Amino acid sequence: MPTLAERWRDIMEEKRQADNNPSPSPDLSDDEYLEEVHDAASAKKAFLARPPLSLRLQFILYFLLAFLFSVGIAVMIIMDIYEVEKKITGLEIVNDYVIEIDQARRFEKNFFLYKTNLSDALESVDNAKVILVGNQEDLKKIIGDKKYKETIDNINSYEELLESLRSADTQSGQRPDKTIENRLRKQGQKMIFLAQDLMKKERSAMDRAIARSRNTQIYSLIFLLIIMIATAYFLGGRMLRNIRRFESYALRIAEGDFELITPKRRYRDEFTNLAIAINHMVQELEKHESMLVQSHKMRAIGTLTAGVAHELNNPLNNITLTSHMLLEDFQDLDDEERKQMIDEVTEEAERAKKIVSNLLDFTRESETKLEPLDLVQLVKGTIDLAANQTRIAGMKIEFHATDNLHRIQGDSQQLRQVFLNLILNAIAASSKGAKIQIMASPADDPDHVAVKVIDHGVGIPRHYLSSIFDPFFTTKDRGKGTGLGLSVSQGIIAKHGGRIRVDSRMGHGSTFTVILPVTTIL
Ligand code: ADP
Repeated sequence: MPTLAERWRDIMEEKRQADNNPSPSPDLSDDEYLEEVHDAASAKKAFLARPPLSLRLQFILYFLLAFLFSVGIAVMIIMDIYEVEKKITGLEIVNDYVIEIDQARRFEKNFFLYKTNLSDALESVDNAKVILVGNQEDLKKIIGDKKYKETIDNINSYEELLESLRSADTQSGQRPDKTIENRLRKQGQKMIFLAQDLMKKERSAMDRAIARSRNTQIYSLIFLLIIMIATAYFLGGRMLRNIRRFESYALRIAEGDFELITPKRRYRDEFTNLAIAINHMVQELEKHESMLVQSHKMRAIGTLTAGVAHELNNPLNNITLTSHMLLEDFQDLDDEERKQMIDEVTEEAERAKKIVSNLLDFTRESETKLEPLDLVQLVKGTIDLAANQTRIAGMKIEFHATDNLHRIQGDSQQLRQVFLNLILNAIAASSKGAKIQIMASPADDPDHVAVKVIDHGVGIPRHYLSSIFDPFFTTKDRGKGTGLGLSVSQGIIAKHGGRIRVDSRMGHGSTFTVILPVTTIL
C-alpha cells in the first residue's frame, strides 16, 4: 500500500510529465486524438495533455460576468436617481420663481385697485431675478439661451415699468398714466406665460428622467435575466451533455463493451478525472472478466472430462486391440488385411488426436481474436465436442442450417465456449432420451444470423428469467453448477456485437437464441 506522500509524489510526477508533453494543437480532430490512444495509459496521457478549463473556473467566470453586469446596472440606476433628484431641485427653483412672479402681479393689481405702494411688488420681482440669475446654468439647459435671455429681458422691462410707475406715483400722487398701466399688464402677462412655459418644460424634463430611470431598471432586469438563463443553459448544458455521455459509457460497459473512453473535448476538467478513473475500472473489469471466462472454461472442462475420457478410451482400446491382433496373426494375414488393420489403427489415432487437440484448443487462454468464421462449421465442431456427453445422457442432437449462411466476425474459441455452455445446459435440463435441436439461420434483424438451441426439458420458472444471466446464479446442486455459464456467454456475445435471447415454458422446454452480426469480410 503506497503511503500518502508516495501517492502525492506519483501524482506530481504525472502532472509534470503531462506538462512536459506538448499540448495537442486545438485544431486536432477527435480522430487524431483517437490515433494516440491504445491503452489506459496512453488514453490518460491524451486526457491530461489537453489544456485545463475546470468547471469551477467556468462557474466563477460566468458569475463574475453576471456580478460585473449587476454592478453596471446599479451604477446606471444611481446615476438616474441623481438625475431625477436634480430635476426635482430644478422644479422647486422654477416653482419658487413662479410664486415670486405671481406675488409681484398680485401686488401690482392691489396698487391699481387699492392704491397700495409698489415696494412689495418690486421686492418680489427682485427675488424672482435673484432666482433666475442664481440658477442661470440650470435654467439655460431647460429652456435654452434664447428663451432665458428673453425671460431676463422681460422681467427687467417689467421692473423698469414698476420703477417708473412708483416714481411717478410718489412725485405727482396722481392716478398713473393709462399707457404705462397697459404696458405693465402686458409685460406681466408675458412674464407669467414665460414662467409657466419654464415650469412645463422642467416638469416634462423630470418626467423624461423618471421614465428613463424606470426603463433602465426594466431593461437591465430583462437583460440580467437573459444572462442568467444563458449561463444556466450553457453551464447546465455542458454538465448534462457530460453526464449523458458518461451514462452511455456506463450502459455500454454494462453490456460488456470494454472499449476505452477517449478525449472528446478540447479542454480537461473535473470530468476528465472521472474518465481516467472509468478507464482504469474498465481495464480491471476486463481483467476480471477474462479470469471469469477462464474459470468457467475450466469448469466446463471438468464437466466434459468424463465424456472425453470415455471418448479417448474408445480409439485407444481399438488401437490396442487391432495392434495385438495384427501382431498375433501377422503371418496368417494377407497384405490387403494387414493394410486394412494398419489403416484402422491410424484412423483411430487420428480420432484421438482430434479429441485432444479440440480440448487443448478449448482450454487455451487467449486474447479475443476476431476473424471471419463459418458459423455452421463452428456449431458442428462444438456438437462434436459434446458428442460423448450427449451419448452418456442418452440424447440426440439434431442440427439444421440454412444453406450459404453469411459468415460472421468472431473469436472461434469463445463462441465455441458459448455454444458448448448452451448445449450442456440443454442436456442438464432434459430427461434421458430427449432430443435437442440446434438451428442456424438468418435472424429477423437484417444482417444478423441466429443460432437457436432448443430443448424440451424442464423449462425456466418465469421469476428466474431475469436472473439467469446474473453471475453465480444457479439452480444446480453444489459442485454441479457455477452460475457463470450464461453470464460469461452473454459477455462474449456482447463483445461480438450480438445478444442472447431466451424463451421458456415450464414443463415444455427452453429456446436460447444467439444473434450475431454478419461480416462482409470473406
Ligand atoms: P450453471 O449452468 O452453472 O448453473 P448458467 O449460467 O449456465 O450456470 O445457468 C444458470 C441457470 O440458468 C441454471 O442453473 C439453470 O437454472 C438455468 N438454465 C440455463 N439453461 C437452462 C435450460 N436450457 N433449461 C432450464 N434452465 C436453464
